Amino acid sequence: MKLLDLTIPYEPLEKKALYDEVAKEYRFLANNTPKMRLLISTELDDKKLPDDFAQKLVNMLPALNYQLCTNHDETSFAKHIKEEQNDLPHVLEHIIIGLMMMIKNDNYHGLTMGNDRLAEIIITYNNKKLAIETTYLGIRLLNALLKREKIDLIKQIKEINRGRVLVWRKYAKKRKQERQFTF
Ligand SMILES: [Zn+2]
Repeated sequence: MKLLDLTIPYEPLEKKALYDEVAKEYRFLANNTPKMRLLISTELDDKKLPDDFAQKLVNMLPALNYQLCTNHDETSFAKHIKEEQNDLPHVLEHIIIGLMMMIKNDNYHGLTMGNDRLAEIIITYNNKKLAIETTYLGIRLLNALLKREKIDLIKQIKEINRGRVLVWRKYAKKRKQERQFTF
């Protein structure tokens, strides 16, 4: 998977009127929240997923348990990775937001459009420098999983966030979700 372009900040002006009408969960596209846009290409080889891809990803990024996905009536993205894993750009969107949650650079909105070769991802952020760093780290993480390579995620997050990292606990059914996120 390759990042072809990162535009930050990004303002989808031409689509503003349309997004306003389409659905309330996409209103973030038309408000003043800072946004970035990634153009992503997916190669055929990327699609040969390791068998344990979904499980490994959730183990590395428990924050995915706390992300709601509009594709699934706003239930946890972690529950639906198996259905979504062939849409790698959409998985990347959730990975980047998950990383942002671990450094509190979150704004918790994202959208993925396009097809399985070329996709456009729009994500909101708070801090531009950290948004860029988490984007690159998200791509490194995804490519490491696809190539079955090891990656020390916590160490790399600490490197971009002055040694600090917020590790989300694994989701326990009994515990009420403390916060609500929409994508
Ligand atoms: Zn989603």
